[in-house]
Amino acid sequence: MKDLKFYKDKLNKKKEEFTNNYEINRSLSTSERDEVAGDLVDQATDDYNKEFLNNLSKSDLNTLRLIDAALERMTEDEYGICLECGDDISEKRLTAVPWAEFCINCQEKKENEE
Ligand SMILES: [Zn+2]
Repeated sequence: MKDLKFYKDKLNKKKEEFTNNYEINRSLSTSERDEVAGDLVDQATDDYNKEFLNNLSKSDLNTLRLIDAALERMTEDEYGICLECGDDISEKRLTAVPWAEFCINCQEKKENEE
């Protein structure tokens, strides 16, 4: 795997795009990331975060949560490992989608199920 910093920079850059003109003082909760993105808006306690979250589309919100989750996995040394099967996620995939949670096989399986 490439230097973790490479992916971390990518994740932070992407996050900056979202948070551009807003300062988020607390990171979004990642523990309930299976819930729908709309719940996140309800959970935001201060108006600042609420305004920020309301300005994001649902897919943006989802991506933001995935980014936070990926950054969290980095701190736990679990980054780049498929949450489904435990295999390494390919560098190619991580470079394209640094917040990927699943390897390409599991991702395709999930998409087929939906
Ligand atoms: Zn997998």
